[in-house]
Amino acid sequence: MNYYSTNKLAPLASLQVAVVDGLASDRGLYMPERIPALPAAFFDHIENLSFQEIAFQVADAFFGEDIEKETLKQIVYETLCFDTPVVRVKENIYSLELFHGPTCAFKDVGARFMARLLAYYIKKQGQKEVNVLVATSGDTGSAVANGFLGVEGIHVYVLYPKGLVSEIQEMQFTTLGQNITAIEVDGTFDDCQALVKASFMDADLKRHMNLTSANSINVARFLPQAFYYFHAYAQLKKIGKADNLVVCVPSGNFGNITAGLFGKKMGLPIRHFIASNNRNDIFFEYLKTGEYKPRPSVSTIANAMDVGDPSNFVRVLDLYGKSHAAIIADISGARYDDDQIAATIKKVYDETGYLLDPHGACGYRALSEQLQPGQVGVFLETAHPAKFKATVEPIIGHEVSIPATLKAFMGGKKQTVSMPNAFASFKQFLLNE
Ligand SMILES: *Cc1c(COP(=O)(O)O)cnc(C)c1O
Repeated sequence: MNYYSTNKLAPLASLQVAVVDGLASDRGLYMPERIPALPAAFFDHIENLSFQEIAFQVADAFFGEDIEKETLKQIVYETLCFDTPVVRVKENIYSLELFHGPTCAFKDVGARFMARLLAYYIKKQGQKEVNVLVATSGDTGSAVANGFLGVEGIHVYVLYPKGLVSEIQEMQFTTLGQNITAIEVDGTFDDCQALVKASFMDADLKRHMNLTSANSINVARFLPQAFYYFHAYAQLKKIGKADNLVVCVPSGNFGNITAGLFGKKMGLPIRHFIASNNRNDIFFEYLKTGEYKPRPSVSTIANAMDVGDPSNFVRVLDLYGKSHAAIIADISGARYDDDQIAATIKKVYDETGYLLDPHGACGYRALSEQLQPGQVGVFLETAHPAKFKATVEPIIGHEVSIPATLKAFMGGKKQTVSMPNAFASFKQFLLNE
């Protein structure tokens, strides 16, 4: 299967080119040229399949022409070394818990898959070492660093803003060593992203090293996220709750929801989607007005959704032939400020005992407000609440215990490279590598 660019100016690319390059040469995002429908028989018996079996069928539909079955199977099975259970929170509202992976956020799925696929291509083509540059405001860096840890032929540089990520997040990518280098930039997340972008454009660096990106613009990171939408459906079907399903996705860069929309196009019976925003409500405004007006992000307690110009918006547009009418037929919006997010965490905890993280709280609240009689809602609980301990504890007035997977990072030794916020310095650093 080939991949086209959303800007339609770059030539079609193979899966390998799309994965290794990340972004198309016309700066567009790659899209698979076909969205394969899965057979009815698959959905008839999906509730009897394991997560890995379901995921392999979905992966095979996209990548089966390009990767041998056994290899693809191994990549899928290794990626999914953890479950994504659906848990009941309240009558007809369920949480799809995506935080049982190594770094306790949904990004583990895409990052682990991409690392393995990239490693496969490096080995197969005898390609020289690939260097992954990733800017992070917290969760992406940890998922990518841990997903790529120890993978031969790949070196990862994580750029993060000094003093602006939580201690737990920082420990998850600064203590690993091996093929992971953490770079502490004296600047903001936007500055980190600007350094990464400037590196991709730089001719000297291009000559010096193979560079690629591991954020959700990469098809190998965003498409595998479709796996758990199918798995959620299977779990709800098993308990007779899947007939009239609404899925709510706390959204920032819109990679996660885009994968769900792909699932729907493949035949997954999801009736409707809700994209829930925090105060960075560019998509919410787009649904209301039909106009897309990006603006600088503001910081909120659901910080992984603090995005002012969601990269995957162009993929959503492309999927729906740029039709606003078609988009609002499938997707509704919601937006919540910090007070509303905090109030939701407290209310749900007090009433049900279920502890939401700030992102999941946006998802839960949109369902509780928009679900119609006869519908069942599932929201994506995108991270473990302990990752946001300092925010969540004062809200509920209790201590939040840290899962063992997160605790394991706390004992490590922090190793970072200090970097001024200057491209010349960063470039020199990479040229010396
Ligand atoms: C990245 C992230 C999001 C936003 O996901 P997108 O794919 O960027 O829309 C939501 N919640 C958490 C916890 C995240 O880490």
